[in-house]
Amino acid sequence: MTHGRTHARPPEHRSPSRTSLLPGIAGAALRAYLLPGAAAVCPPLRAALGVRDRLEAADEVLLTFDDGPHPQATPAVLDLLRDAGVKATFFLVGEQVERCPQLAAEIASAGHEVALHCHRHRCLLRLTPRQVRDDLGRAQAVIGETTGRRPRRYRPPYGIFNAAALALARAQGWEPLLWSKDGRDWQRRASADSIAARVTRGLRGGDVILLHDADHYSTPGSWRQTLAALPRVLDAINDQRLRVAR
Ligand SMILES: [Zn+2]
Repeated sequence: MTHGRTHARPPEHRSPSRTSLLPGIAGAALRAYLLPGAAAVCPPLRAALGVRDRLEAADEVLLTFDDGPHPQATPAVLDLLRDAGVKATFFLVGEQVERCPQLAAEIASAGHEVALHCHRHRCLLRLTPRQVRDDLGRAQAVIGETTGRRPRRYRPPYGIFNAAALALARAQGWEPLLWSKDGRDWQRRASADSIAARVTRGLRGGDVILLHDADHYSTPGSWRQTLAALPRVLDAINDQRLRVAR
């Protein structure tokens, strides 16, 4: 799940006290370390940090799915995208790739982009630099071994970066990418209507659309609403004479 606003986050996803979990980092250094996390809720900060949330192309949108692969949701999404002739970007979770390696390979072989989300789905504000490097290194290795691809885009859980993650992304050449249109499909009260409305209201070229092809870290079964909303999202993209970026 990659939602950005903390007030709606389920209790189990709330970050515990930050300082107690980051031994050896305090004061100004701690603030600098955690500052990039604010980009999730403060769009003006994104450009300063080199974090993108839109494409440059004026006639294209990017369709992104986080948190997979998932044994039921991912095949259903792949079928729908195949029938629509559309390619998407899947921000994969390493531990889920380990559980469903075949599905991760199918995403890649179907021509979709595989991107990097995390290995374990944790809020980075709780992780030390070493933990961040270990997590992302493991995720990249698992994704590479399974799909034969090297991710070129990176989006952390909840869209919350920290300084270590951004530095690593820079060093590895991963483009840090958030989103401009959030379906909020992970929410308990989300419906196909609400998801489609959130994504398509004011949709324009350059938008990056966030959806989830999994319910590993969200409301059980939430992906069914995502799946039901997807044809409407694709129709709206067509109606706007936009294309889904490949
Ligand atoms: Zn996520």
